[in-house]
Amino acid sequence: MSLQWFAGPCSVESLSQWNTLLEALQPQGVQYFRGGLFKMRTHPESFQGLRNEGHQLMLQAKQKTSFSFVTEVSVPEQVDLLSDVADVFQVGSRSMYNYELLKKLSRSSKPVVLKRAFSATLDEWLSAADYLLKDDPQKKVWLCERGVRGFDTYFRNTLDINAIAYIAQKTPFSAMVDASHATGRAEFVKAGTLAGIAAGATAVMVEVHPHPKEALSDADQALDIEQFYALKRQSDSLYEHFQKV
Ligand code: PEP
Ligand code: MN
Repeated sequence: MSLQWFAGPCSVESLSQWNTLLEALQPQGVQYFRGGLFKMRTHPESFQGLRNEGHQLMLQAKQKTSFSFVTEVSVPEQVDLLSDVADVFQVGSRSMYNYELLKKLSRSSKPVVLKRAFSATLDEWLSAADYLLKDDPQKKVWLCERGVRGFDTYFRNTLDINAIAYIAQKTPFSAMVDASHATGRAEFVKAGTLAGIAAGATAVMVEVHPHPKEALSDADQALDIEQFYALKRQSDSLYEHFQKV
């Protein structure tokens, strides 16, 4: 199987942004297109996502594409609300401990990307994943390592490569690397992604924006389209190499 790609903007910002990215990513063999609608922001004055307006925009785009869409849910009600656009639900780092949300997702038939809370031990993360399987033991679950909080503030987070290797070798879940949130800096996303693949990740999450400087959230870590193409080429080639050895 080829490397699985979950790519797209941090936030859905406009129909033109979404369409530009769809056109750029679809021919590249990206399987999953990500974009946040109801954003979980640290500061209340930060952009909170296009919310219901973005939902309508995503619905419009969905009619014109064969992409699978991934978006974050943070409360159980959003699972019902967004089930017409989301092919895969994302649980964000801030919601990994939201057990009512995890139970609700377990009752839905859709696959889930479960991000690691930035303070979660591996045991806590794996227990959260078990919630997802409770009512649906066959559910497809990707465990997304997006960096944990370390003592250094030079990077946004610290990518836990050990955790990726552990998930890949010791659990039934698929390991995903998200070097966008782990590093917070576009110029380091390639290094983190390739390291994650070397450790055993079979899926990559990455934030891409047509004009990264203008992004309404996570601008510093977004790749532009050309940078994404280069990352995709190098990552696919490394992954193929590990499939052979
Ligand atoms: C995101 O994927 O845009 C996001 C908010 O990520 P995290 O939950 O890992 O911070
Ligand atoms: Mn983001």
